[in-house]
Amino acid sequence: MSPKAPITQDVMTIPRKLPEGKVNLVGLTRDQLRAALIDHGTPEKQAKMRTGQIWQWIYQWGKRDFAEMTNLAKAYRAQLAEHFVIEIPEVVTRQVSEDGTRKYLCRIAGGHEVEVVYIPEDDRGTLCISSQVGCTLTCSFCHTGTQKLVRNLTAAEIVGQVMMARDDLDEWPTPGAPKDETRLLSNIVLMGMGEPLYNFENVRDAMKIAMDPEGISLSRRRITLSTSGVVPEIARTAEEIGCLLAISFHATTDETRDVLVPINKRWNIEELLGVLASYPNVSNSERITFEYVMLDGVNDSDDDAHRLIDHIKRHKIPAKINLIPFNEWPGAPYKRSSNNRIRAFANIIYQAGYASPIRKTRGEDIMAACGQLKSATERARKSRKQIAAEAGLDGS
Ligand code: SF4
Repeated sequence: MSPKAPITQDVMTIPRKLPEGKVNLVGLTRDQLRAALIDHGTPEKQAKMRTGQIWQWIYQWGKRDFAEMTNLAKAYRAQLAEHFVIEIPEVVTRQVSEDGTRKYLCRIAGGHEVEVVYIPEDDRGTLCISSQVGCTLTCSFCHTGTQKLVRNLTAAEIVGQVMMARDDLDEWPTPGAPKDETRLLSNIVLMGMGEPLYNFENVRDAMKIAMDPEGISLSRRRITLSTSGVVPEIARTAEEIGCLLAISFHATTDETRDVLVPINKRWNIEELLGVLASYPNVSNSERITFEYVMLDGVNDSDDDAHRLIDHIKRHKIPAKINLIPFNEWPGAPYKRSSNNRIRAFANIIYQAGYASPIRKTRGEDIMAACGQLKSATERARKSRKQIAAEAGLDGS
């Protein structure tokens, strides 16, 4: 079936330049923000209060212009504007699917691009954000795995994705207006491009900002970090972030997992399960999500389903298993399991007493599988260049 055209696609190409010498306040922890203010002339005695005020303007009210920070003296606002900026990633393309899924390609410093996907559901709205440009890991079913790691995102670029989406959803509250508890963007999943635990400090700082009660104020239970299984960093995630955890599990034997999720060669299934068993107690969180992409004839047998249950039971891990119909991308080496196969697999898990939701495929018309929009945009650019070259024109 040929992909349907997206409902809308906007292309924005506003150049992104950080004015020389200015410091971006986005992504700084409260302590870093305070230190930056003192460094640039805020008297130490006032710094704590100013930090709180500026923090609220940025993260609670979504303001980007110091001139709008009306509880600060005019001269002080001018002083801030001289030294600082409030900068978030710039949206390059934005696509809205028939089902309401929104997919953004965002440009960050250095001209790199990352993907962000917003998925609205009846009772929640989830934003899937990226933590790296490309990825060092090479999970064979994953499209991002075909793109080399370029660099880690900064904390500003990570929390900036959330701010960008709130802009697009027009969801910043107005100072003084009654608090609205129904949120369009209610959940964050770190499931976009990259392995978040290979960019731990920036991910932690960004999520701490997203959780801060005087700002974006998302509960830690509404943030899920998805890892391919960087075992030494998992306990740290519980202690220093405290969010929910999802594991890209995808296979029930080391032999298969070594191929699908090659980090398994470093930390195998038993080591991974061992560290997961203690996660919920440390972070006081709920169940761990086991993500399991359904690949035809590779990992989808009844035996696989039984083995999966056995692994989880043996280690007494409170778990739910998220079954993901494979979102085929051009050149992918796998096929999606049939619906019947997925249902039979889900049933075995369900009968064993575990939740086994089958993820709805969302945004297929806009290629919402991780890494696909970036590649398609690059291909489109390349072909524009080729066409121009053939016609003897400048392709830029
Ligand atoms: S699944 Fe995650 S960790 Fe694996 S290659 Fe893709 S982005 Fe990287």
